[in-house]
Amino acid sequence: MIRETFDVAVLGSGFAGSLTAVLLHLQGKRVVLLERGSHPRFSLGESSTPLSNLSLEEIAREYGLDWLAPLAEYGTWKKAYPDLVCGLKRGFTFVKQTPDVPYRAEPDHAGELLVEASPDDARSDTHWLRADFDHFLVGKAIEAGVVYLDRVALHIDPMIRPWRLTGLREAEPVEITARFLVDATGPAGALAQALGIDCTPHGMWTNTRTVFNHFSGLRRWEEVLELHGGRPDEHPYRCDDAAVHHVLEEGWMWQLRFENGVTSAGILYEAGRAGASNWDETLARYPGLVEQFRDARPILPWVTTGRIQRRAKTTAGPDWAMLAPAAYSLDALYSTGNAHALCTVERLLRLVRSGWADGSEYDAALQREIEFLDRLVHGTYRAMRNFGLLAHFSMYYFAGAIAAEERRRAGGAGADEEFMSSHIPAFREAVFRAHQIVAAPEVPEVAAFGARVAADIAPWNTTGLCDPKKRNLYAYG
Ligand SMILES: Cc1cc2nc3c(=O)[nH]c(=O)nc-3n(C[C@H](O)[C@H](O)[C@H](O)COP(=O)(O)OP(=O)(O)OC[C@H]3O[C@@H](n4cnc5c(N)ncnc54)[C@H](O)[C@@H]3O)c2cc1C
Repeated sequence: MIRETFDVAVLGSGFAGSLTAVLLHLQGKRVVLLERGSHPRFSLGESSTPLSNLSLEEIAREYGLDWLAPLAEYGTWKKAYPDLVCGLKRGFTFVKQTPDVPYRAEPDHAGELLVEASPDDARSDTHWLRADFDHFLVGKAIEAGVVYLDRVALHIDPMIRPWRLTGLREAEPVEITARFLVDATGPAGALAQALGIDCTPHGMWTNTRTVFNHFSGLRRWEEVLELHGGRPDEHPYRCDDAAVHHVLEEGWMWQLRFENGVTSAGILYEAGRAGASNWDETLARYPGLVEQFRDARPILPWVTTGRIQRRAKTTAGPDWAMLAPAAYSLDALYSTGNAHALCTVERLLRLVRSGWADGSEYDAALQREIEFLDRLVHGTYRAMRNFGLLAHFSMYYFAGAIAAEERRRAGGAGADEEFMSSHIPAFREAVFRAHQIVAAPEVPEVAAFGARVAADIAPWNTTGLCDPKKRNLYAYG
């Protein structure tokens, strides 16, 4: 029988749970990390962003985690951990695909949008092969002194305090007592289930589902592009070394390349759109993608989901908190999930250090962030009705993210900082207003909408976003 008492029990050993467990341990807490499955295991959420990497960098610095710091950049990652698989991510690439006609690149990059996120390969972001990445981090948690129990099936009694978690580790009985619970179970939302918290996607605009796999042998898009009149040599970075978004009538397809020859790809379908409804039929409608996937082979079992969105009505209490991915699921657009997870790890640690109160501060900030991100993502889906409109609307994401990066780098992100600049009233209001416009049934006039976006983001636009002379190709800085 395993029977032990801890200050904190962290449920779920994804990268976010493992990191939280290490940091709480370093704050002097006795921590147990509890995992239903075992590592290595597959997980979605592979593409990092400058904001997630800034979080890793700052956490590493603050807590003296020399092993973590190299993971914040491609160059240092490759040097320190050459065997830990990752992919090079230089930015965000969007490509317009038109159904049922041969692919033809549009003149002057009108059907492309590339936004570079780093000055060079060495300082770039990465795609995380989560099976390896999460396995590595849980190993570091154990090394640091966190008690780790995998393969546990535990019941959380919602009425008993301190918390009592009882069940089995395989055949062995387990009884864990803890004063504080952190839910890092991602979409499983274990604590919401135990506490009976409503997780219907109340108030959420985004309505998408997904089908995905990992592939071997996926050709680079730049090769197909070049064959059909495109000019990849004019791109600010190699367009496949990115989070690639192929914009479809049905929604969009992501492609994230790892250096072991594997590419993660999936389609997100927005509810109510025309077109096909499964992978094969969707792919078959886009001749350019058919060409790209000709020699590609799926290497994992296919996953097909229902609606992805969920949102806990309450995300924290006097002795518990959910990290962002346990509190809600939104979508893969803009790869905000991991950065937001780390944002809540940092907030949780700060609030615990200063004496966790009733959780209301944590909950209010997270709920505001979810409302903001949902509008940004839903607005982007609605803007996909016209590629030019999409290129304009997406500038809210880039402006908010870049402004947040700059504040962090300059040491100017205060305790009131919320994710992606969403705490800045004028920016938040601008995004909400623009969302209303693109969510309306009629497509707004594209040039006028572009002018509105440029004016809205002007106070934070330090990098020349919305400049028509850049022809949708935004080099770093
Ligand atoms: C289609 C899609 C694509 C995405 N793509 C991206 C992307 O490219 N970039 C990005 O930043 N984000 C992305 N996200 C979001 C991303 O998946 C999450 O932010 C990320 O996986 C969260 O990691 P985590 O460590 O919090 O949880 P997870 O990786 O979900 O890990 C949770 C762990 O908890 C364990 N667990 C579950 N239930 C229990 C229980 N009862 N007891 C104990 N353990 C339990 C699980 O076994 C698992 O190991 C995407 C999301 C979706 C839906």
